[in-house]
Amino acid sequence: MAETAAILNPDKTVVHPEPLSQCAMASRLTVPEIESARARYPGVPVVTYVNSSAAAKAVSDICCTSANAVRVVESLEAPRVIFSPDRNLAAYVAARTGIEVIPVPALGCCPTHQSLSVCDVEEQIRAHPGAEVMVHPETTPAVQALADFIGSTSAMIRRVQETGAATVIVGTEVSILYRMRKLAPDKVLVPASHLMSCADMRMITLDLVEEAVRTRTPVVHVDPGVAAGARRALERMLEVG
Ligand code: SF4
Repeated sequence: MAETAAILNPDKTVVHPEPLSQCAMASRLTVPEIESARARYPGVPVVTYVNSSAAAKAVSDICCTSANAVRVVESLEAPRVIFSPDRNLAAYVAARTGIEVIPVPALGCCPTHQSLSVCDVEEQIRAHPGAEVMVHPETTPAVQALADFIGSTSAMIRRVQETGAATVIVGTEVSILYRMRKLAPDKVLVPASHLMSCADMRMITLDLVEEAVRTRTPVVHVDPGVAAGARRALERMLEVG
């Protein structure tokens, strides 16, 4: 995401507080994997989630977020697409669009969202009868089947404020509940699982952010050739909206 900020804002200095903090899902997707999928499915467009490296974006046709993935895939007007790197978001898009979605890598996922089990959600439903269940589309299709609402982080934050339910079971990275509780203090928000904590995100501490702001380092650098390819895929996504 820091690379994306730098690519889309070439006139700005972008710093990242902890370069060792890298999305575990993004790290699983390599350029050869995308190239190999292109060779297996000639002519099939490649859609790559923004939670990916700049190098992966650079060899993709278009990027997407969890909020616009359905719109982006539909905009391609293709009978099938290659989708990377989250197989659960790929399944969600396939179910919503009826388009064949080929996940690359086949087992790509966010370990934090993948960890949420059907048993976890059922346990919270039993403990909180009448609660609304909302989950992120990076959770498994089996978990999504139990949800009243499936949406991106921004959609979930909106939904928490708008829902008529007094209690909401939230199936996404647990730190998001902090922001939700500030925006919807009247709601009882229950994590679907306390174990949904991203180790990479936890590496970003307040001290590191303060140091990055003060020193304006470490600066995020992206190879100009890679940045040009990634910018093309990102800007194509922004045109879809
Ligand atoms: S929760 Fe962590 S591993 Fe999952 S998509 Fe976000 S940054 Fe990546």
